[in-house]
Amino acid sequence: MDKIGIIVCEKTTKICGGCMCFSAFSKKEKSFERYKGKDVEIGAFFHCNGCNSELDKDLEEKVGIIKSKDIKNVHMALCIKVECKRYDEIKDYLVRNNFNVIEGTH
Ligand code: SF4
Ligand code: SF4
Repeated sequence: MDKIGIIVCEKTTKICGGCMCFSAFSKKEKSFERYKGKDVEIGAFFHCNGCNSELDKDLEEKVGIIKSKDIKNVHMALCIKVECKRYDEIKDYLVRNNFNVIEGTH
């Protein structure tokens, strides 16, 4: 079974439990439509470690674990698109770490 990851905005984790992301995934809607008919599970749901995080340093352990679980596709959640001035930086970081980056969730 393939596993995917979802990276979300740390700020929104204070008010959001990820319900819309999980709902869209379960229904294989929006950016998850590509998984229709495929055996896929969400293997990681994680945040950026906050606006002041140094991505390479502060995400090293977390991303190392995610990579060790053979997660290839990482979706950048809608809340990052809406909230984040560092969107491109986060995307570049994920690409440098050899993830297939998919923009969007629900
Ligand atoms: S994309 Fe929406 S549902 Fe998913 S974590 Fe962000 S705010 Fe929550
Ligand atoms: S860096 Fe961007 S994605 Fe991370 S908490 Fe700040 S606004 Fe949200």
